[in-house]
Amino acid sequence: MSIPLPLFPLIPSASQSLPRPSTETRLIDTFGRIHNNLRVSVTDRCNLRCIYCMPEEVTFKPKSELLTFEEIVAFVKVAVELGINKIRLTGGEPLLRRGITDLVRMICEIPKIEDLSLTTNGILLKPLARELYQAGLRRLNVSLDTLDPERFFWLSRRQGLEQVLEGLAEAKDVGFSPIKVNAVALKNFSEADIVPLARYCRDHDFELRFIEYMPIGAEPWEREKVLLAAEIQAILEQEFGPLTPAQGNDPRNPSFDFVYPEGGQVGFISSVSRPFCHSCNRLRLTAEGKLRNCLFSLEETDVRLWLRPQLAAEPLRQAILQTVWEKWEGHEINSAHFLKPERTMHAIGG
Ligand code: SAM
Ligand code: SF4
Repeated sequence: MSIPLPLFPLIPSASQSLPRPSTETRLIDTFGRIHNNLRVSVTDRCNLRCIYCMPEEVTFKPKSELLTFEEIVAFVKVAVELGINKIRLTGGEPLLRRGITDLVRMICEIPKIEDLSLTTNGILLKPLARELYQAGLRRLNVSLDTLDPERFFWLSRRQGLEQVLEGLAEAKDVGFSPIKVNAVALKNFSEADIVPLARYCRDHDFELRFIEYMPIGAEPWEREKVLLAAEIQAILEQEFGPLTPAQGNDPRNPSFDFVYPEGGQVGFISSVSRPFCHSCNRLRLTAEGKLRNCLFSLEETDVRLWLRPQLAAEPLRQAILQTVWEKWEGHEINSAHFLKPERTMHAIGG
């Protein structure tokens, strides 16, 4: 069975022209989507250079421009009062940010946060896993596209597969659950990685999700370079037999999950072939304090203005509400209107 297509086409919105009701205190946009999910990037730096994410040569933001932990926490507290209850720490590579476990601890202390998770490339996970767990983190997403060291080097332009695998083993030992493994799949490259990754994740009890390659990196993107979820599914089914949709797939969740005939799950994040914009509940805060209502936004709100030199809670609150209100209907990857944002993925936060 293949993944169903979205129910309606994605059309650009004119939401900016609609006035926001002054009494509205929820993070709602003009399409009625309520937002409870915030991705916080803590750095634009990275110790890998994945070809689909960032250029080889890059100028990072000066550290003085990055939000401090206190500023991040001040932002989160205001956002939580507006309904945010899920937070993911990301980057760049979040484990490169000095003192990241302190930030985890500070966020865990904020009441009303129901879910905190972190996405990492796993390179620094082995030395940090225990500290992160002790700080209160329970959920981890680790990005891993291949189990072959040469292919790992080709994709990430750096060595490090062994460290990632050791990091995953340590995270499991320490007690993280669930551990999700995210694999970006590229056409005419990743086909050979699908079955080995599936076996590895099943054997180690990691939840594997394949991600379709999106136009948000430094390389020129074409649809022909995307290994589509249906194609990955066909490769898996040839090896393992028919996959059946998992019970309780949440439409707000970007991953559509399937069950193998012998048990265990695999998911697909089909941003290209099955955009999930109609149920998107996500907001993104970049490391230097720009608030984005979509991964592909062409505009962003500078919220550092309301955090530095000191918190101005009411203007910040209004800025967050307005940013959500102005969210467009969908990203339009599949249309001729699509415009790639200037920022590449590592500088946004995935
Ligand atoms: N450095 C961390 C990591 O790699 O997990 C966190 C940041 S990274 C930008 C977050 C996620 O974005 C990773 O799972 C990565 O594979 C994914 N990603 C990056 N560029 C992408 C692209 N062009 N298309 C789809 N996913 C992408
Ligand atoms: Fe770094 Fe993650 Fe981007 Fe790879 S995907 S370059 S690990 S930020």
